[in-house]
Amino acid sequence: MRTPFPPGSGTRLREELAEQVACRFDPELHDGPKLSASESPEGQAAREEVARQVCADCPLRETTCLAYVRRVRPKRGIWAGLTAEQIAELPNRGSRKAA
Ligand code: SF4
Repeated sequence: MRTPFPPGSGTRLREELAEQVACRFDPELHDGPKLSASESPEGQAAREEVARQVCADCPLRETTCLAYVRRVRPKRGIWAGLTAEQIAELPNRGSRKAA
């Protein structure tokens, strides 16, 4: 049985998600530089836009990736074209709106 992934372990998550997805080969594009490195807000916005474009072309985005991040709720990075903050706002799978 697999153990839960530690928060923020983006590279590991991507390795588990699939072996051939584009984000696996350039995890810093999706996760940003290592925590010790700095990134300007403009640099982050530009990097994240490119990551969103990679996700837009990914065949796993709407199926595997989105379901995966809804379950894992990563703390950083771009996943299925969404930021961690956007993913955190997604309703849980199977949740229903109040009548
Ligand atoms: S949708 Fe994006 S984050 Fe998800 S597997 Fe594809 S490239 Fe990676």
